[in-house]
Amino acid sequence: MADKSTDAKPMFLQGAEILARKRGISIEAFLADYERSIHNSKVPGNDCLDSEEIVMLAAGTGKMSVQSGLHLHECDSCNAAIEAMKNSRTK
Ligand SMILES: [Zn+2]
Repeated sequence: MADKSTDAKPMFLQGAEILARKRGISIEAFLADYERSIHNSKVPGNDCLDSEEIVMLAAGTGKMSVQSGLHLHECDSCNAAIEAMKNSRTK
């Protein structure tokens, strides 16, 4: 079983770095905050996208499920994460 997250992580961290800089906080603080917000929204119908899904959507390679689409309408964290990830891709 390959560890799929090792590929996505650098991209995720790049986006997180940009977001952290915008907020004027450290990357550690941002990631802690991000994880907390994901854990806090573990309620039915309000699942935050996981980092792999965010990376896929930012890259335009993922299929967005209806649930993800609905979630993106109401979740700033996920939108911000995707935007930061897109901005980190210079092409
Ligand atoms: Zn979310």
